[in-house]
Amino acid sequence: MIKGTISRVSGPVIIAKGMIGSRMYDVVNVGPEALRGEIIRLDGDESVIQVYEDTTGLTLGESVENTGSPLSVELGPGLLSSIYDGVQRPLPVLLKKSGDFIGRGVTAPGLDREKKWEFVPAVKIGDHLLPGDILGTVAEFQFEHRVLVPPKVTGTVTEVDGGTFSVDETVCILDGKIRLTMMQSWPVRIPRPVAKKLDPVLPLVTGQRIFDCMFPVTKGGTAMIPGGFGTGKTVSEQTLAKWSDTQIVVYIGCGERGNEMTDVLTEFPELVDPRTNLPLIQRTVLIANTSNMPVAAREASIYTGITIAEYFRDMGYDVALMADSTSRWGEALREVSGRLEEMPGEEGYPAYLATRLAAFYERAGRVTCISAKERTGSVTVVGAVSPPGGDFSEPITQNTLRVVGTFWALDTNLAYRRHFPSVNWIKSYSLYLDSISGWYSQNIASDWRELRDKAIYLLQKEVELQEIVQLVGPDALPDSEKAILDTTRMIREDFLQQSAYSETDSFCPIEKQYLMLKVIMAYYEQVNIAMNRGVSLRQVQELPLRATIGRMKEVAEIETVRGMTGDIHDRISALVVEK
Ligand code: ADP
Ligand code: MG
Repeated sequence: MIKGTISRVSGPVIIAKGMIGSRMYDVVNVGPEALRGEIIRLDGDESVIQVYEDTTGLTLGESVENTGSPLSVELGPGLLSSIYDGVQRPLPVLLKKSGDFIGRGVTAPGLDREKKWEFVPAVKIGDHLLPGDILGTVAEFQFEHRVLVPPKVTGTVTEVDGGTFSVDETVCILDGKIRLTMMQSWPVRIPRPVAKKLDPVLPLVTGQRIFDCMFPVTKGGTAMIPGGFGTGKTVSEQTLAKWSDTQIVVYIGCGERGNEMTDVLTEFPELVDPRTNLPLIQRTVLIANTSNMPVAAREASIYTGITIAEYFRDMGYDVALMADSTSRWGEALREVSGRLEEMPGEEGYPAYLATRLAAFYERAGRVTCISAKERTGSVTVVGAVSPPGGDFSEPITQNTLRVVGTFWALDTNLAYRRHFPSVNWIKSYSLYLDSISGWYSQNIASDWRELRDKAIYLLQKEVELQEIVQLVGPDALPDSEKAILDTTRMIREDFLQQSAYSETDSFCPIEKQYLMLKVIMAYYEQVNIAMNRGVSLRQVQELPLRATIGRMKEVAEIETVRGMTGDIHDRISALVVEK
């Protein structure tokens, strides 16, 4: 074993001498308490190490031992409902061991070794197995956990056992010598292999109108939610965790204040999965690193999270990864880089910030999994960004913007006016609109895209008209333009606004979303037809249509909403006839 001694301590970063033979990203044990750290730079016989625990009290000359393996996560039954820190230490277990504050050097494996699982083999003696093949299954709550042949392993089954095992007991032997258990480990900084990346043609259905209908993200796509304090980043991430049509959620609470994280830790386990009525936590892996926990573990947390997400993807599932907030991750990176005395780039962030962000989001995707049998899975990544002062020109926002497919810009003014979700419809965009149009045409309606583009066009037009109104007052506008403002108000208030706390409206089925938009756009179309035949806008406004349209959100029966288009048509046409 390579052993060295501490020659310098600088916050979360230490330097150890005498470490010849060490490799980048090797995990080391530091000092008498064996604090866990990771080599992040090599320099002759010196290793620069980031330590995942508080380094206070470490002294020069104390020993550093290289474990010889890279920072890895344990993957297997027991991940679901777990709450980990950034290097997969199970927080509830650590708390039990050390009381209210987690002591230094306290550790526990990522997967419980005591717990027994019922393993049901899917292979038999004589089967030839390739990497990614399903060895067997384990019921984890209601979830079918598929135990996979690890990457790079192949062989013929010479022994396989069904029954009750702990994760580290052998369940299958290949070629008489390769022992497979229900768990595997994987280095977090290396993407798990896939057979093929697929085009992003399926939407991630979130039940949120501003997302699904206006600025969709795909399964395997990437999205960012930048916004100032209190604009709704955390509520959005949690709403997505709750409602997205994925089987698994990995939720990374990254560097937010301790009390906010406590909220997540106490509230999250109580959330109910609205589709199944089971606790949401049973399909979730939670990773928590509050601002008062060591920064290096925060830096590692997003890699720990995405590796776990990839593992479930490899089983053939759709996974959503939420990171709240990646700004706090960037700040951890900046702090460690500062300690390394690296040349600072923009606003003190290291020059490699952009490549690190790109490499992280690059791990999202919809893929064909490695396996002899065809299987697809996906990892969708949604990163919250908290730019200081809500100013989007700062480096984390800008560098994330370059790599993600969907941009949900939260707006302080909208949040202030209690327009939620406070997604700004002028600044936001989705690059996936074209690639998912096919799915929408087939599954919802062929005119979805047309309606959506028309609505966005009117909302853009509204901005111009509002400027005019501010200058000359609303009366100066012709009826045709007033009708636009009439319609955009409905789009904003009756369609885009959607409360995360409403019983009926917190989730809106995609078909209903489409119908609601269709109703509002039908109103606009009918108003124009009527006005061309001499009906005034005022006459239309006197009809009780606005109230009907405003009620759509709370109408649970989709058929009622479907009927509204015809109703609006009939009532407005009646005005024409009356004339
Ligand atoms: P951030 O994480 O950006 O600081 P939060 O997600 O904590 O902000 O949101 C702040 C507050 O805004 C919430 O407590 C809630 O009252 C309100 N809010 C945000 N999004 C919604 C929503 N979709 N529906 C209703 N209220 C919301
Ligand atoms: Mg928040």
